Amino acid sequence: MQGFHCSQALTGAFAEEFGYSLKNVMKISTCFGGGMHRGELCGCVTAATMVFGMAFGLYDPQDKELESFGYKNADEFFDRFRERMGGKTLCREILGKDFSKPEELAMIRREGLVKKVCPHVLQASIEIIEDMLKRQDEEVVYVRLDTSDFEVEKLQTVIKSVNRQNRFRSNVQDLLRSSDRKIGFIQFDVRRFKIINDLYGEKFGDEVLFFIKDNLKELCNDRQFFLNLRSDVFMVVTEYDDDKELMDFIREIEEVSASFKDVKLQLAFGVYSVDDKDMEIRQMEDRAAMARTAAKENVVSNVVFYEEQFKELLYTRKFIEENMHTAVEEKQFKMYLQPKYSISQNRIVGAEALVRWIHPERGMIYPNVFIPVIEENGFIKMVDYYIWEEASRFIKRCTDIGIEDCPVSVNVSRHHLRDTEFMYVLMDDIKKNQIEKKLLELEITETANDEQIGQAAMRLKLGGFTLLMDDFGSGYSSLNVLLETPFDVIKLDKKFMDNMMASDKGKLILEHMVSMAHELGLGLLAEGVETKEQVELLGKIGCDNVQGYYFARPMPQEDFFALLKKDRGMEDHFES
Ligand code: C2E
Ligand code: CA
Ligand code: CA
Repeated sequence: MQGFHCSQALTGAFAEEFGYSLKNVMKISTCFGGGMHRGELCGCVTAATMVFGMAFGLYDPQDKELESFGYKNADEFFDRFRERMGGKTLCREILGKDFSKPEELAMIRREGLVKKVCPHVLQASIEIIEDMLKRQDEEVVYVRLDTSDFEVEKLQTVIKSVNRQNRFRSNVQDLLRSSDRKIGFIQFDVRRFKIINDLYGEKFGDEVLFFIKDNLKELCNDRQFFLNLRSDVFMVVTEYDDDKELMDFIREIEEVSASFKDVKLQLAFGVYSVDDKDMEIRQMEDRAAMARTAAKENVVSNVVFYEEQFKELLYTRKFIEENMHTAVEEKQFKMYLQPKYSISQNRIVGAEALVRWIHPERGMIYPNVFIPVIEENGFIKMVDYYIWEEASRFIKRCTDIGIEDCPVSVNVSRHHLRDTEFMYVLMDDIKKNQIEKKLLELEITETANDEQIGQAAMRLKLGGFTLLMDDFGSGYSSLNVLLETPFDVIKLDKKFMDNMMASDKGKLILEHMVSMAHELGLGLLAEGVETKEQVELLGKIGCDNVQGYYFARPMPQEDFFALLKKDRGMEDHFES
């Protein structure tokens, strides 16, 4: 390793062992020379932390256990290093000369100090690191020293999981080296796993994970490897010859995991098919992870390949960004309205305003395509303002002909809630059209523990607005947000309903939720109602308000206006 910086030499010594490319690690570790060049911390110390990072580091910053495990290693290395160096840790102490001073640097060079001193420091560092890494296999002995039983258990889990990861990655590395077939990285997770945990308890959630692990054990042969990355995220690596073979394997995983004790499990798969075997394993994992994220949002298929989603997304994004301004100027955004019905009264009790983009060449573009993009770049504000204005005008049109009991709800993107501007816009719409505040309802998607949204919601509530919690049960929301936030109505998400209705247990939970909402004085509306069975069940358990294709799809405002008049027993000529 002569001729390299100390930090490069040390990280380089371990890089390949952990499946990283030597060249990249060398490049990255150059950054650690900074301290050393000021004559401060010896490069071996900073490089050692990078080695621990390579061995145990995780992408997931949420993983606090592993993080603190990493810090412990760094501390231990530092102590042992100082001991071996007779109390010295700074570069200028170890060399006896200061790198940062030109005259001393000249002396360092003249006396060949680096070649004399540094190999010995490097050797000591490598010995300490190797000793620490080896010990990870002897788990308990070391951990027991001065920790409580609880911590022992926690650390044991961490160490075991680190070992599992290392084993997995080294198996995969071998497979990549030895196989002449294609290699696929499959990452999947359980959709709405958090809800399963919330509803059935964490013990049940753990059982689900064990169930999946057992299935994978059964399915995988000795050249297929899997790893439970964290919580409900799994990684599987397999060889294959053609896409059909890979798809069949994925469908097999899906089939055996389709349900556990009556609860339907839906999996979302991201797939990366390796096109460059020299790429780092973690980068391959990353690509599969990106595809999995796309799979979660994909409505057409729950399996997404890395390349496809990438190209497709870039193309769509570009189109949206280039066309959105014109779309506003040329009024290509249109407000559609979807009726809300009362089951018991068989009558329209309101509507939700939903945006559509009618592009002159491309035709109708649905919000789930363009909203994620314009939410990211902030343009959503413009679109929402327009829809709110349209909704207000529509309400005015209804009240003008005497229909004063059909509130219209609009969606309020989370983007607005950062400041108060949107409140003035809403007030302005209400004033300009002289409509009642209670007729313009606001839908907000609540996420657990989001203080900013909680506060904004409270402000709106105090301002006299009616608040609807959108998409309840779709992802983050859990029961305790009901206690913490001032919503008037809960909108049960379609997927949540589908899930609940799939089992007797789920139906029971739904029934209890309905009575709980009644007791808390909250309104309830079921979204995405598509079948007669659903309507009957909802009616039976007392969830009276519904919205969904079974009754009507979102429609142009003119159509809704006609429908509403008919519903209220008015003929067309009533409008002046
Ligand atoms: P959302 O607020 O949950 O709206 C309900 C979505 O479910 C609508 O999709 C609606 O067309 C659809 N839907 C209604 N009934 C059924 C059913 O029975 N079956 C099925 N499969 N789907 C049903 P849409 O209009 O495509 O909107 C998607 C999402 O885009 C909305 O979800 C909302 O989050 C967002 N969005 C739509 N318009 C606006 C807007 O003006 N502003 C903002 N910020 N977001 C909007
Ligand atoms: Ca909504
Ligand atoms: Ca919704």
